[in-house]
Amino acid sequence: MAMIIDGKAVSAQIREEIKEDVIAFTKKHGAAPSLTVIIVGEDPASQVYVRNKHKACEQVGIKSDIIRLPAETGEDELLSLIDRLNGDKTVNGILVQLPLPKHINEESVICKISPEKDVDAFGYENVGRIYTGHFDFLPCTPAGVMELLHRSGISVSGKECVVIGRSNIVGKPMAALLMHENGTVTVCHTKTKDLSLHTRRADILVSSVGKANFITADMVKEGAVIIDVGINHLHDGKLTGDVDYEGCFEKAAAITPVPGGVGPMTITMLLKNTLTAANKQI
Ligand code: NAP
Repeated sequence: MAMIIDGKAVSAQIREEIKEDVIAFTKKHGAAPSLTVIIVGEDPASQVYVRNKHKACEQVGIKSDIIRLPAETGEDELLSLIDRLNGDKTVNGILVQLPLPKHINEESVICKISPEKDVDAFGYENVGRIYTGHFDFLPCTPAGVMELLHRSGISVSGKECVVIGRSNIVGKPMAALLMHENGTVTVCHTKTKDLSLHTRRADILVSSVGKANFITADMVKEGAVIIDVGINHLHDGKLTGDVDYEGCFEKAAAITPVPGGVGPMTITMLLKNTLTAANKQI
């Protein structure tokens, strides 16, 4: 029977720690760390994410500003705004909520954010820093997974780690972080032949695919640590991950539930990155 890795509890604990650090920062410098989130258009899921980020900032005392722009905003206008925020000393972190409308090039926008304010760590400079191990910020979801492992007493060193998914925001940085901690890392994707061959030898299996019930019990090794990054919306409105939780629960040594696993950690890591950015900019 698996140990349940409780992301909600770990996240709450880290947010308390951040809150204390934010209080100390604010007392010392006379202003709270600040995050500006830019959202372009009316995508309903993005609206929810932005609201949740704002709420989380307020809970720990981080100043949060949201700039809402219409869907027809031009790329140049957005780039100028980021330029202005880059030069604004009262703004410590800048985040552009993705996805952007199709007429705007996401890479150009993300790379316009000053690396020291790029709290999502998606810009080229921060990506390079992650791979070379010289980072100040880590992308929030993979960083959240590492925190869950650390705080659950799970060591990565020498373990067979299998990451399914190779996106720039989850799979690739996840693999890099596991490698930094001396895991032996395999990254799987749609062109991987015989996926089960890889998943069945994983001591630590991270699934970031985005398909419900994708990982079944026959695909996992007895005693594995299963990290489910997937978020999938079922027809009945319920949320589920990539992993057949019930099926894998008996076989795994530890498992993250969905909801309540990796999800709560992502925003927590954003709060941590904003505080880091503020401290670096003093
Ligand atoms: P993505 O960009 O769509 O990437 C999905 C990855 O899965 C791709 O690399 C794809 O391979 C791979 N894949 C898809 N079908 C596969 C298959 N049959 N066999 C093997 N690999 C397969 O998604 P993402 O942004 O990384 O997000 C992944 C999931 O994590 C989504 O459910 C998302 O909602 C969730 N997520 C959760 C959080 C959180 O806070 N918990 C944060 C971010 C994302 P190819 O590269 O070959 O196409």
